[in-house]
Amino acid sequence: MRLILLGPPGAGKGTQSQRLVEKHGIAQLSTGDMLRAAIKAGTPVGQRARDIMARGELVPDNVVVGIISERLDQPDAKRGFVLDGFPRTVGQAEALDRLLAEKGLKLDGVIELKVDEGVLLQRIESRLAETLARGEPVRPDDNPESFKTRLKAYREQTAPLVEYYRARRRLGSVDGLVTVSEVGRAMDEKIAELSRSELAAGG
Ligand code: ADP
Repeated sequence: MRLILLGPPGAGKGTQSQRLVEKHGIAQLSTGDMLRAAIKAGTPVGQRARDIMARGELVPDNVVVGIISERLDQPDAKRGFVLDGFPRTVGQAEALDRLLAEKGLKLDGVIELKVDEGVLLQRIESRLAETLARGEPVRPDDNPESFKTRLKAYREQTAPLVEYYRARRRLGSVDGLVTVSEVGRAMDEKIAELSRSELAAGG
């Protein structure tokens, strides 16, 4: 199974990706996690990404496309994957289409988690409070100013992907404001619907 999860920061993409990983034995490919690992390791990519990420802006397409291309070739991605946080621009989506075609892979579907912005701000604030309460380090982009920039990046650069995948009949939208397990159930239904329409269309 090969899926993309689409949704604004704080929509629950990470939580739902984890569930899919456990349920289907597929790999979670989070460009955010990969970039944070690169920063920690002090690689050239990490050095390039650090300040951009802290501000809440998007890292250049060629950087993330390069990371994803390599990651798709790792053995654990052979059984399938859920892309969490990639693609984030139309350019990235086009590059992904090319990569998958080159590698002879097909996408099963794209699930959009729909959440309104007021709720996102509350979620991110409580996430911040919980992290602090646990005494864990806070992400440099989990502050109100960077979060506003992340939302703006989503609205302007990522939200157009909803239409991109709708036009390609790959999209299933799910209400992200219900409980974690209800979101999960709704996603499973959409995934089943997408694969049925794929079969009906002749693969
Ligand atoms: P969130 O979805 O909560 O914003 P992520 O961990 O997915 O968190 O992303 C954190 C940051 O990493 C983004 O704000 C951006 O700077 C960078 N990033 C992650 N994925 C991409 C991507 N596909 N394209 C460009 N930048 C990315």
